This record gives sequence, C-alpha cells and structure tokens, in this order.
Amino acid sequence: MTESPDTLPSLRGRSLAGHMDVVAQLAELLGPDRVRAHPLDLLIYAKDSGVSSGEAAVVALPESTGEVAEVMRIAAAAGMPMVARGAGTGLAGGAIGVPGSVLIVLTRMNEIFEIDEVGATAWVGPGVINLELSNVLENRGLHFAPDPASQQSATVGGNVGTNAGGPHCLAEGSTIAHVLGMEVVTADGEVVTLGGAAPDPPGYDLRGLVVGSEGTLAIATRILVRLTRNPPDTVTMLIAFTGITDATRTVSEIISSGLVPAALEMLDGPMIEAVENFVHAGLPVEAGAVLLAEVVGHPDCTAAEASLIREISARNDATEIRTASNEAERVLLWKGRKAAFGAIAQSAPDYYLNDTVVPRTRFVDVVDETYAIADRYGLRLLNIFHAGDGNFHPLVSYDASEPGMTEKVIEASHEMAQAAIAAGGTLSGEHGIGVEKRDLMSQVFSPDDLDAQARIREAFDPLGLLNPGKVLPEGSRRFDRPTT
Ligand SMILES: Cc1cc2nc3c(=O)[nH]c(=O)nc-3n(C[C@H](O)[C@H](O)[C@H](O)COP(=O)(O)OP(=O)(O)OC[C@H]3O[C@@H](n4cnc5c(N)ncnc54)[C@H](O)[C@@H]3O)c2cc1C
Repeated sequence: MTESPDTLPSLRGRSLAGHMDVVAQLAELLGPDRVRAHPLDLLIYAKDSGVSSGEAAVVALPESTGEVAEVMRIAAAAGMPMVARGAGTGLAGGAIGVPGSVLIVLTRMNEIFEIDEVGATAWVGPGVINLELSNVLENRGLHFAPDPASQQSATVGGNVGTNAGGPHCLAEGSTIAHVLGMEVVTADGEVVTLGGAAPDPPGYDLRGLVVGSEGTLAIATRILVRLTRNPPDTVTMLIAFTGITDATRTVSEIISSGLVPAALEMLDGPMIEAVENFVHAGLPVEAGAVLLAEVVGHPDCTAAEASLIREISARNDATEIRTASNEAERVLLWKGRKAAFGAIAQSAPDYYLNDTVVPRTRFVDVVDETYAIADRYGLRLLNIFHAGDGNFHPLVSYDASEPGMTEKVIEASHEMAQAAIAAGGTLSGEHGIGVEKRDLMSQVFSPDDLDAQARIREAFDPLGLLNPGKVLPEGSRRFDRPTT
C-alpha cells in the first residue's frame, strides 16, 4: 500500500547523519555557497508571507534545470521531501519547509531565454520576477498579463505554482491562460516538457494540471509564457458610492451588460481611509466604496465602453465618477490600489489576507456577514478585492505579538471562508491552499473528489515526496480513510 504524504517515513524524522550526508552531496554539486543548513539560514526561509512557519533540513539554490534534477535525485534517493520555493510571497504556507525536507529555491534561475515578438511568447526561468518580465518587454509593446499585487517580488515560477491572478486577470484570465508549456522536473529527477507553443496540443493537458498545483506534482524549471500586446488605449475611472451595495450592483450590471473590463477592483470604506492616509492619491474618504474600472483596446471601443460604465454607475447612484485624463492621473488612481498592503501597516504590524471567491450576486450578504464575524471576534477588517470576478479578500489587521491573537485571526478567517462557501463560493481564488486552508478542503470537495485528486498526485509522485502535507488534507486517499 502506498502511504499518504502525511504519514511518509521521511516526515517522521530522519537521522541527522542522513541529512548531513545529503548536505555534503548537495554542497559537492552546487558548491557550499549555494547550500544552506545553518539554523539561522533555515530561519530566513521558515515562512512565506502567510502566518504559518516550517523548517527544512537544508536549502538548495540551483541555477539550472540540470542542477534541479540532480538535487531532486539526491533528495529522492535519501527519501527526503522536496519543497519548491520562489520569492516566498505566497500567503498559504505553500513554500515553507516540511520536516526533514530539501527546500529548492529557484530565484537564481531568473534568465529570460528567448522572446518571440511575432508569436508573442517567451521562454523564461522560474525565478524571473513577474514585473521585471513586463518591464523588459515594455519597449517591444508586450507584457505578461497576470499582475498579482505582489508582482514586484513574486516569481513567474511561483505564479505557476499558485495559478496567480491579479487586477488585470478579469478579462485576460489568470496565470493558467498565459502558460503554454513548461519544462518540469518530476519527483525522481526526470526532466519532462509539458504543453508547447502549438495550440491545443494532443493528449492529456498535463501543463494544466501542474499550473496551480503548488509544487506538489513537479517543479517548473523553464516556462513558455504567452505575452499580451500592450493596448493602444486605456481608460481608467474611479467611481465612488455611499455604500458597498450600490458598488456591487454596479459591478453586476456592468458584467451582465456583456462588457468585461480589463480591471474592476473594489475598496470599501475602511480601506479607502487607510490607503488615502498613506498615499494621498486623492481617494474620496467620505465614500463607503470605490470601484476602480479600466477598459482597454482601440480608442473607439474604450470610449464606448467607458461611457457604458459611467451610465451604469450613475444609474446606481454613484456619487463621483472620475476619469484619468493622462498617464500621470492613471498611475495615481492605481497607486491607491497598489499601495493598499503597505497602507495597512499604519494601523497594526500584521495582517491576514483572506482569499475566497463569492458569486457576485451574493457579495453584499457575504461582506455583511464577514464584518459581523470580525465584530464578534473584536477584529479590524478592511476589504480590497477583484470585484469583477468575485475574488474576495477580507483583510484582518492585527498585532501578532498579542498572545493568542494569530490563532483568533485564523479562526475568524476560517469562518469568513465558510461564509463564502455557504454562499456558493469557494475556498481560494488565487492564493492557493498550502497548509493554511488544507483542512477546509473537505468543505468544498467530497471524499471521492479528494480521492481523485490524491490519485493524480500519486501518479506524478508515488512516494509523496513533493511538498507533502500541503493542499490535500490527511486521509484524502480513499484507502487511508478510517472505515466505520
Ligand atoms: C502583498 C501581497 C499581495 C498579493 N497579491 C496577490 C494577488 O493579487 N494575486 C495572487 O494571485 N496572489 C497574490 N499574492 C500571493 C503571492 O504573491 C502569489 O501567490 C505568487 O504567485 C507567489 O509567487 P512566489 O514567487 O512568491 O512563490 P512562493 O510563495 O515561493 O511559492 C508559492 C507556491 O508555488 C510553489 N512553487 C514555487 N515555485 C515553483 C516552481 N518553479 N514550480 C512549481 N511550484 C513552484 C511553491 O511550492 C508554493 O506552493 C500576494 C501576496 C502578497 C504578500
């Protein structure tokens, strides 16, 4: 019988001598500078940007596919788990070490290998930083469309790991729509290419399986990304409302009119206030909600679409509709959205960023319920989210040094996730499951669904060495479940 990832012998602790032997082999392969096993070094990698922590036995910093494959062969031979890590901006604990693991940090694999301007594709290393890729492409009239709010630091490999989204994924789709192919290394160190430049390649879509698999199926070492042409015209608008109900109704009407704007972001009252205090971007602090709407394309189209958005907003009692008249004003409107996470630090040193999906028609109910949960727990809540596609991010601002506070925040956040699920939504829109939401998976998937997912994982990784203990809850595999 194959053991579930949660009960692998490797997780039950290997001897220190065994680990030291692996450290020595890795140092021989990569050189001592690119292998870290000192407790202080391990501490640096103990967390991602979420609240969970974990510790690897050793950190390896490969620089090529060949080195990743060799690192994985060494780890597999020793029965040690392996955890892929990009920039560590993930919010679900996906990139934190598990006991006795080799943490494979891919940030040094940051080469852009090939750009095909005509075909609008590029082969890039997993360590390329999302925004840097778009910056490099700027003078070629192209960009990489997925734009998570963390894009200044997050890697393309990490975007693949979590199937990252962002404000401009409403019309363009999240990372999965922008990855055509991948070179990956499997758990036993085999190098395989999945997908490719040809549209609709025959056979199973293994590329699609790996995107969003949070390092549990394979590690991406080269990624063929689809590039998006920069639009000839962009119109950005800030629309203010007295409350979230009018703003939400506006979002629903815009989408049901058949228009899919490039971005449709919402900030609620507490978030507007926090952001404005921080960046002074001219947000209307008296508003109960603002929408940031953007349309792109040919100027004739953008003018007509912007006009439709204005008309719908006015019908829904918008108190202000402001259109950026030049690039500087456009950047200023976006500055408020992009500075939100920094702004929160004014009120408390820590935050917990929830990530659920809520059907647009139920937004108002779920927002109300979310605030009620925060009130019940005595927590400060702010909201900034991708309203157009229902990606809802209630953000709890708190001080983790207060005893018991983190646990309280997690408990409240899990209730917020349950409220989204009860409204017909789901557990994660873009940040992934990692360890943080792993035990909530059974609320959205039946035992048979989880078993099917565990079988797929097992087919890629029969020994359960890739990021064990993440994504799927213990007992997902049918024969692991206790029988009654
Ligand atoms: C302030 C802030 C704002 C954010 N905003 C957004 C947002 O708008 N949208 C959004 O989607 N996310 C957002 N995030 C979450 C996070 O930035 C994204 O999930 C991002 O894609 C993670 O990239 P990373 O390089 O940091 O990956 P990591 O955190 O290092 O890893 C994330 C996951 O991917 C796996 N992984 C990493 N590299 C590889 C690889 N080469 N092959 C296979 N698996 C791999 C890891 O094992 C892990 O499970 C935000 C985070 C922060 C801190």
